[in-house]
Amino acid sequence: MCLDGACEHDAAARPATGDRDGGGALDRRRLLMAAATGAALTLAPVSFMQGRAAAGTPKGTPDGGDVTRTVTGHLDTGAADFVYLPVQVPKGVRKIAVEYSYDKPSVPAGTPGNSCDIGVFDQRGTKLGGKGFRGWSGGARTAFEISATEATPGYLPGPVEAGTWNIVLGPYQVAPQGMNYQVKITLTYGADGAPFTPNHPPTKAKGRGRAWYRGDGHLHTVHSDGKRLPAEVAAGARQAGLDFMVSTDHNTSSAHAVWGEYAGQDLLIITGEEVTTRNGHWLALGLPAGEWIDWRYRSRDDAFGRFARQVHRSGGLVVPAHPYCPYIASQWKFGYADADAVEVWNGPWTYDDESAVDTWDAGLAEAVRTGGRWLPAMGNSDAHSEPQVIGLPHNVVYADGLTTDAIVSGIRAGRNWIAESSSVSLTFTASGAGREAGIAETLTARADAPVDVRLEVAGVPNGTVRFITDEGQMHQESLPASGTGTVVWRTTTSLAAYVRAEVRHPMADGSPGKGNTMGPALVWGPMAALTNPIFLKRA
Ligand SMILES: [Zn+2]
Ligand SMILES: [Zn+2]
Repeated sequence: MCLDGACEHDAAARPATGDRDGGGALDRRRLLMAAATGAALTLAPVSFMQGRAAAGTPKGTPDGGDVTRTVTGHLDTGAADFVYLPVQVPKGVRKIAVEYSYDKPSVPAGTPGNSCDIGVFDQRGTKLGGKGFRGWSGGARTAFEISATEATPGYLPGPVEAGTWNIVLGPYQVAPQGMNYQVKITLTYGADGAPFTPNHPPTKAKGRGRAWYRGDGHLHTVHSDGKRLPAEVAAGARQAGLDFMVSTDHNTSSAHAVWGEYAGQDLLIITGEEVTTRNGHWLALGLPAGEWIDWRYRSRDDAFGRFARQVHRSGGLVVPAHPYCPYIASQWKFGYADADAVEVWNGPWTYDDESAVDTWDAGLAEAVRTGGRWLPAMGNSDAHSEPQVIGLPHNVVYADGLTTDAIVSGIRAGRNWIAESSSVSLTFTASGAGREAGIAETLTARADAPVDVRLEVAGVPNGTVRFITDEGQMHQESLPASGTGTVVWRTTTSLAAYVRAEVRHPMADGSPGKGNTMGPALVWGPMAALTNPIFLKRA
């Protein structure tokens, strides 16, 4: 057996070495049955057929009790991204329960220790993008259960059909000593209970007609690695003054089925997913409720485009998230050709957000030159748990109404700016030659005709307004202690291909930021607001 293509000469993995319950005759020959499939490792299957008989469960008897199998194994550094443990589920099972654990030997500072995700696919198989997905809890839980009536958050309720299920281990960090793991599977026999009924959120709320709507496009709950219940996230969105929010739990659609209870005429809840690959995370926003997007690929696997197309066919948006996040597997390596927007501001402002804004800004000038599509900027909180603030930051989107389609269209068109909180408001326009353009619009004027760029802003005491064009920062002005002000700057369409605005808080020492200078530390305070550009075009 082997791990993946890169180390098939190396018999380092010793999977599936036992059955602790003695119900099944799992001998060492099973080791030989393990096989690699692509960048994945498939272990020898676990059978419950004999165990059921051993447990004295007559065939067809409802409530015939539980049967448990325990599998242990070892993975060395260099293990496959995904390790599949097939489980042969007989007929008559009403619940599958799985517990797992692994050791965490101490490692030197700077060396990743053991960390292993878990999820499951049912008898419909593990094919990439296939129908067998039944849930994923990443590293957030050590156990899960699925039955027709209910499932652990992150997992999809439904009948436990007979056939080969696959428990998936995702050993995404393996210590130099390797990882010893144990997986305990318990099947409960009996008749299915009442089927689970999904309660999907409506795709429209009352709204105010064509208007600016505030919303956070990246939020987690207990359905992935967040600690907040869906009720708490919805309450937090309302408290933050948001009109909409998007549910983006990692790698699962399970939360979609509960949002109907928490949405309302005052809060549109849009369904989505944070697709968490080994080479970066992306938001699939505006998915039809219940739709799941596969994440089991790397940049080099050339599979991302297929799943981006799936999201586009479903009417959703593909948004690379926190592209410069330094955490393992969190930097964006798939490029931007398939993206609809990019999350340049993720949670409280940090240096990786500066990098994201710089990359995005460079792309604007390129789009102007080539006449190609430009990529709108988004900002989202990525809030998981207390004390992370829902709505810090969020998008303020100009949309035809408070509906999923209208919000998605607004973001796709870049008709949005990003606010640190709902206490920040702004209006951004460029006017000249008797015309006016707003965010994401184009103002066309004679090359030398004066164009006045105007920002009205409130809610940023002693803030600094920056106007940035394809030449860089062209104007800087401070706001008063009240935080309210209007800044006007004149340019022409020959001088600027686009102009965008940033409003920054003062630096830590209270100074307004150091404009067009360089220094050993950041020369700007944290972002309070950032707009998408207005394009300026020579007539
Ligand atoms: Zn992420
Ligand atoms: Zn996230």
